[in-house]
Amino acid sequence: MTRQAATAIRKAMPELPEVETTVRGLARYLDGERLTRVVTHRADLRRPFPPELAQILTGATVTGLGRRAKYGLIHVDRGQTLVFHLGMSGRWRIEPDAIGKHDHLVIETGSGHCLALCDPRRFGSVDLVETDRLDAWPPFAALGPEPLSDALSPAYLSGALKGRKAAIKLMLLDQRIVAGLGNIYVCEALYRARIDPRREAGSVSRAAIARLVPAIKAVLREAIDAGGSTLRDYARPDGELGYFSKQFDVYDREDEPCRSCKGTVHRIVQGGRSTWFCPSCQK
Ligand SMILES: [Zn+2]
Repeated sequence: MTRQAATAIRKAMPELPEVETTVRGLARYLDGERLTRVVTHRADLRRPFPPELAQILTGATVTGLGRRAKYGLIHVDRGQTLVFHLGMSGRWRIEPDAIGKHDHLVIETGSGHCLALCDPRRFGSVDLVETDRLDAWPPFAALGPEPLSDALSPAYLSGALKGRKAAIKLMLLDQRIVAGLGNIYVCEALYRARIDPRREAGSVSRAAIARLVPAIKAVLREAIDAGGSTLRDYARPDGELGYFSKQFDVYDREDEPCRSCKGTVHRIVQGGRSTWFCPSCQK
């Protein structure tokens, strides 16, 4: 992959912190609001919009918002939850000046807010799921624990990785092991925990796993905090939720100096995707 392409993906792909930031931003406009108008401007994104979407949501009141892995959740008082995924390029536009050709779903609220789900590449998705059956919804049923919850503990991760021959980096990207971790934060967490991404997962020491679990939580929390500070900018009209710039230690920094030692950041390909790491710091 060229450096330009890697940079483009970094800017384009929302990961868990971007989804969390998006959900927190949406909550300001939607929580407790009655939805007065819900319109789709095409039949599908990655898959069709639920045909009953507008009928079920129009007139419903939002009872809360949440996130599971990289999915955003908008709960309404009709026992249903709108589940959205931002895919590669999706974002919610707040109070857009005009509805554009990529604004595929538009929601208006009783307070006069307008929110548009814009997704030029249409890798995202929108589904309606019965709220009390969310855990059993197929994309959620096999997910591992949320990384920021207490369920992701060193004891859990040691058990999940025991005897596994695959590289630790690939195991952390497996959504059945931990939900919602993507390439950026796996690279950053392994660097912070000083673990070689190529190491066989089952051979990672207990001491290293005890560093890795808090490193995963810390890199995610820091990104969410960075998004929160960026979020203040979204008060302006035509704001967009879901993207913000971050400074990474290794991600997309091939041949640049390691921030901890005199070495340089290397890039390798694992499972078809780039991994950035410092071979001197990560063993
Ligand atoms: Zn280093």
